[in-house]
Amino acid sequence: MPAEKTRPDLAGLDRLELEAALEERGQERFRARQIFRWIYRRGVTDTAAMTDLPLGLRDSLADEFALSTPEIGARHRSSDGTEKFLVALGDGRQIESVFIPETPAMTFCVSTQVGCAMACAFCLTGKMGLVRNLTAGEIAGQVRVLANALNMRQTAFNIVLMGMGEPLHNYDETMRALRILADEHGLAVPARRVTLSTVGLLPALERLAHEPLMPNLAISLHAPSDIQRGELVPINKKYGIAEIIEACRSFPLRRRSRITFEYVLLAGVNDSADDARRLATLLAGLKAKVNLIPLNAAAGIPFDRPSDAAINRFGKILADRGVTVSVRKSRGRDIRAACGQLIVEGQKKSPGQKLAVMI
Ligand code: SAH
Repeated sequence: MPAEKTRPDLAGLDRLELEAALEERGQERFRARQIFRWIYRRGVTDTAAMTDLPLGLRDSLADEFALSTPEIGARHRSSDGTEKFLVALGDGRQIESVFIPETPAMTFCVSTQVGCAMACAFCLTGKMGLVRNLTAGEIAGQVRVLANALNMRQTAFNIVLMGMGEPLHNYDETMRALRILADEHGLAVPARRVTLSTVGLLPALERLAHEPLMPNLAISLHAPSDIQRGELVPINKKYGIAEIIEACRSFPLRRRSRITFEYVLLAGVNDSADDARRLATLLAGLKAKVNLIPLNAAAGIPFDRPSDAAINRFGKILADRGVTVSVRKSRGRDIRAACGQLIVEGQKKSPGQKLAVMI
């Protein structure tokens, strides 16, 4: 029996691809703009509701294309206003997306993979392992359903690719999602409102440097030496700090913009005065800013959050050496929506994850 031909997903095509797909099927290209407006600006999830399209076109869209929309399952609201959304995908898998209000901007934190292959030692998502990549339709779809649910389709917001997954490990679908989200006929989120956070997969980072659509870059550094970083971020054994910093030096930046270096502070591991001094030396001459993230502790994570005094000392050493530094305020910790706490309970679990969610 021939396998059923999979229909292209209207939500997973950027506008040029949609125009080409329509043309191939004998339709006019400009219909893509209308379809984008329906899906992204008006939040429609069914082609039958696209009432300014000719009936014949609506029928053939329904026959020849899918229109996948992730579904919001549970919603949890933190005492600080942060909201965590459990989002179900077409195959029943789940991911988490987070809305963070007033940072001062409104921010959506979205996932790029179900789980993550990077296995960073302090991250709960890392304990899941990689289940699968998200499609562009699923990545952009999170923004679409959150904007709908929060009535924010007309509001300006930022997007951080800091949910579950390593965006550069799912490069093509992530970049396609950014093109979809940036489209002027859709949600029109410009690349300067998007931040891509990565452990620094070198080949992909070099590719990113040539993208026409350039998000802001955040590098999850977490340690000033390869010995320390290798223990925390296993991929460092393949792409070391010197290479990553080198790639950052030649990374094209918009005027006045800087690369963010994220640094999870772990008590007694990477938070000494020496570590701070070495970090400042490493970043000398780079257009950089450091975002310190005091560990969000969780059961199953074998590290502790440093004291406020240690956090302040670390920050002050950087600042005294001319490094712009901020301390990330932990948001949504009471609903386990904070950095590194995204983990979907109820999916197949690794032993480590079971431990983490049981306690
Ligand atoms: N894979 C990408 C995107 C994840 S972003 C990356 O690593 O950059 C999530 C950020 O939160 C990363 O900087 C990550 O290192 C950090 N993080 C992970 N676990 C954390 C924890 N338990 N506490 C604080 N920050 C954590």
